[in-house]
Amino acid sequence: MSESRYNSRKMLEKLIAFPTVSSNSNLDLISFVEDYLSVYGVSSKRIISDCGKKANLYATIGPMNPGGIVLSGHTDVVPIDGQDWQTDPFELTEKDGRLYGRGTCDMKAFTAIALALVPDMSNLKRPIHLALSYDEEVGCLGAPKLIETIKDQLPEVRAVFVGEPTSMRVVTGHKSILHFDTRITGLEAHSSQQHRGVPAVMIAGRLINWLGEKQRENGANADQNNAFEPPFSTLHCGVVHGGTAVNITARHCDFVTDIRTLPTEDAMSYFDEYVNYVRDVVEPEMQSVSPDTKVEIEVHANVPGFDAPEDSEAVQLAKQLSGQNTTEVAPYAAESGQYQKAGFSVAMCGPGSIDQAHQPNEYISVDQLEQGTEFIRRLIDLQSM
Ligand SMILES: [Zn+2]
Repeated sequence: MSESRYNSRKMLEKLIAFPTVSSNSNLDLISFVEDYLSVYGVSSKRIISDCGKKANLYATIGPMNPGGIVLSGHTDVVPIDGQDWQTDPFELTEKDGRLYGRGTCDMKAFTAIALALVPDMSNLKRPIHLALSYDEEVGCLGAPKLIETIKDQLPEVRAVFVGEPTSMRVVTGHKSILHFDTRITGLEAHSSQQHRGVPAVMIAGRLINWLGEKQRENGANADQNNAFEPPFSTLHCGVVHGGTAVNITARHCDFVTDIRTLPTEDAMSYFDEYVNYVRDVVEPEMQSVSPDTKVEIEVHANVPGFDAPEDSEAVQLAKQLSGQNTTEVAPYAAESGQYQKAGFSVAMCGPGSIDQAHQPNEYISVDQLEQGTEFIRRLIDLQSM
């Protein structure tokens, strides 16, 4: 393989060809990376998911010393269902200075660059660690085990760079995400006899309105100088199912909620308030009509917010390596908050624009791929000094 060495682009082509949509296994991609690294004498470790079909992978290049830098990338991509693609999403296609394919910007390019440059990491004095996760796109579900293991197994780490597509700008914050389901079991009656029934859809409406009112309050009290857009925590319901007929009080209704808080707020405090409202106010009213009625609430994803101090090691380093002297915050959440919560110094910086992420005809510009490559080259120089 050393004769026909992968460049960043060839490596990206290879990684894109694995259709690692979050619902699929990522093990073929993981095996490829393991084999590739082993050619350069780098051993890697898998952390298998509970279902056994997915794995995180981490590897250390260079000496097992303190002062290492973790390069973090997720291996999964969002689905292509219902999207109008002009090219095969799982085949890298170049057109007009752009490389098209699912995951080109979010976020296989960062990983591809790091892997392609492994052969240049032979003189490291301090290590570069690769940390590849699964299931980032469905609530950052894979990263916690990976982060826990890294924290436990690696010598002191100087900084973590999460290579989400920031157009190579340095990102120091993102909001938190909390996803949960609410399932309401009511009681059927004729719609003219609502005092005898428990209308699950109407109760869902009341709870969704509670979320909406919270968000309105947040909007009204927002600090307009806050860097986030919007500069307040949001509470949203995106899907509702329920009811059978216009004149029947619905027996079932369920809906999903997405709360995204500023990193300075805790999504769980909204959640606790919501649960208290359900348990102390809404459910007792339902059960006074029928004791069999209930509201069930189940959390799916809970990703902490990210808020890196400007003077932190990771932010300073990311600015130095990217040549940027300003920082910004991201509108989307990523694994950065999870790393920070575990005690790491973290910055987000990666090639590609978030504007192209999750879209049909997702692409990364060749220029961004080159800028990302420069960033990692400078990092290699730094770690080799
Ligand atoms: Zn991503």
